[in-house]
This record gives sequence, structure tokens and C-alpha cells, in this order.
Amino acid sequence: MVEKSVANPKKLPILLSNAVIRVIFATETKIRTNMDTQKPYVIGVDLGGTNTVFGIVDARGNIVAEDSIKTQAYKTADAFVEAGVVCLKPLIEQVGGIDNIAGMGIGAPNANYYSGAIEIAPNLCWAHDCVVPLAQMFSEKLRPSLSCGLSRPQQEHLLRSLPAERHLVSPLFGRYPRNGESHPDGLPPHYEEGQERGAFPVRLTNDANAAAMGEMAYGAARGMKNFIVLTLGTGVGSGIVINGQLVYGHDGFAGELGHVTMVRGKEGRPCGCGRTGCLESYCSATGVARTAREILANTDRPSLLRNKPAEEIESLDVSIAASKGDEVANEIFQFTGKMLGEACADFAAFSSPEAFIFFGGLCKAGDLIMKPIEESYNQHVMPIFRGKAKFLVSGLMNANAAVLGASALGWGE
Ligand SMILES: [Zn+2]
Repeated sequence: MVEKSVANPKKLPILLSNAVIRVIFATETKIRTNMDTQKPYVIGVDLGGTNTVFGIVDARGNIVAEDSIKTQAYKTADAFVEAGVVCLKPLIEQVGGIDNIAGMGIGAPNANYYSGAIEIAPNLCWAHDCVVPLAQMFSEKLRPSLSCGLSRPQQEHLLRSLPAERHLVSPLFGRYPRNGESHPDGLPPHYEEGQERGAFPVRLTNDANAAAMGEMAYGAARGMKNFIVLTLGTGVGSGIVINGQLVYGHDGFAGELGHVTMVRGKEGRPCGCGRTGCLESYCSATGVARTAREILANTDRPSLLRNKPAEEIESLDVSIAASKGDEVANEIFQFTGKMLGEACADFAAFSSPEAFIFFGGLCKAGDLIMKPIEESYNQHVMPIFRGKAKFLVSGLMNANAAVLGASALGWGE
């Protein structure tokens, strides 16, 4: 690659420094990326515990075709991928074939961006006790339909003729870093390595990171380079963007802000991660419902929430009651907002984001939850950060945000 880019490398008086090699590499990458964007569509996949939604998305963030399958109707990952490809094919045909598609992005639980694998996902029956290289599996299944001019037997012959080590690397990432090992170039992995081998580029990340990508490409974070997305759903997820890049950490799992400890010691609520006192155990939809039950049990004040058996109360009931002026419901939001604001004050000390963007059903309560968050933040944050961060509700709430977010990965870096 370097030799191709330099007119006459032999005339160079010294060996190319790493910095020069990086500039050349970056330039080539940019050109290739520009070529890719001539393909007008990407595939976005929202892989959830119940449904997996496949969408074809254009550069403006319009979902032009969409279909879904039941995530858990398949016993093995192979069967799931097979069904996914069957579901995708008519959608791909609708936009003129795979040649018009730049890549595919998947948002999924316990997904590792570096390896393209779902790793031990407790809520997925075909991945609860194993590592599933999902990006690679989709990439291989979608590759034969590419117009590389080779028949399937010819492609297989070509594969057999490649050195064995190249069979073992991911078609997406080449030799990706494992367990803390640095990428050989000291650079993030590039799917172009895979493209050279005719593979269809597929990227995978966790759902909250996909949401952050979606906000950056199509939503409330357009034009921002430093922000944090917090997803308030069954759990609390987060996607941290610093200098325009998602933070993945050394192993691909960075950004688990739902599991910072808010209450230490025996007082802390048990969390799904096996620890106690995590932000998620208080501020997820289930956490809010639990707060409601605790507050109702500790008081005999009247509340609309008493119209339901306590064990059936959901966070949506709290939102509805609060919007009707219910005092107890408002107190629940005050409690939740205070804790989220305290957590955001700590997150600011780490990455000083321009904005915190909230996503999920709880945000539909608007100011009822957002105001307590911002007030608590400004009360607890270090003075140098006070009053600077924006507190925004997702710009993708009314669209299929998860599919859009995942699709943003399909365009590449
Ligand atoms: Zn936890």
C-alpha cells in the first residue's frame, strides 16, 4: 500500500516514519470511503430480544424498506443468520441489488465492535453461552451475491488459494485486536481490508453505541464531536463520543455508564450485572417502577398510581400520572432525575461533553424528567462545567431510531 502511494520509494533517504505511513494510509482510506458513499444505501439492523428489524436506509436517514424476524425463533446462530438473509433479499432487490449498498450496521446486546461478535448475551437463546461472530457470518452470506464477476465455485477456489491465515481473520476487520492486544498498525481496524477480498462490510456494536451513531448522523448530535447518549429502557445504556469518535475501550466494551455505582454498600439495589447500587437499578424503566412501589409503600398519600396493583406498575404509568399532576409520580421523577443529574455530573468530569442526549420511553415525559436532571447536574457538577452542557431528548424518537443508529455504522468510519 505504501509503495503504491509514493512515486519512487527507493529515492527516499530514510525509512518512512510511522507518522508518514499513517498520513498515506489515512489519505487512501478517505478516497476509498468517498467511493463507498457513491453507493446510496446502507442496511441497519436492530437486533433486540424479541424482534430483529432489517431496514434499508438512504444517506438522508430515510428507511426505504423494512422487514423483521423473530430473534428467538431459531435454535442456532446459523439458522438465525440464514433467516435474516432470506428476509433481507427482497429488501435489497427493492433498491436495485447489493451493489447499491455500502455496508451493514448491526446494533445488538453484548456486541463487540472490534471482533464483530456477540459475546455471552444472556437474553439471546443462541448466544447466551457462546461467542457468535455475527458480522462475519452475515458478511459471508451476503458476499456471494456481489457482482465480483465470479461464480460461487470460482469464489470458493479463490478462497482456497489464499494463505490459510487469511481464512481465519475477520473479513470485516482483518486481524482485529483481541483481549487488549493492539491493532498491528496502531490504527483502528478498517473494513477496507475485507473489501479487498470481496467481502460485504458488516459492522456490529452494542445498541447504545448504535444510538449514539444515529444521533450523530441523523439526530440531536449532528455537528457535535463530544457528547454522551444515555438510553433509558429496560436497562440504562450509554454511547460516549469524544472528538467525533465512539469510545470502545481496549476490548470493545467501553461505555457502560449504566453500571457506575450510585449507592455503595448494603443499601444499594441489586443490579442485573450481579453488583449492587448501579445507576441502571434506579433509572431504568424497571428501576423507576421499583421506586414507585417503594414510595407508595412508605406513604399513604393518595395517588393515581394506586389504581393498579403495585406489582403491575410500569414506568409508563408514572409518566401518565405525572403528566396529570400526580404529586407522588412527580416525586418519583424528581428522585430519578436527581440521580441521573448526579451521574451526569461525574461523567462531565471524565469527558466534558457538549450535550447529554437521552433516549427511551422515560424521556417522553419531557420537562417532568429533564428539568430535575439538569437542575441536579448543575448542583453537583464541578464549577468549571456548570451551565455548559445541553440536556437534550433524542432527535430520533419518532423514527425507527435503533435501525437508523445501526445503519450509520454501515457507512464506515
Ligand atoms: Zn449493574
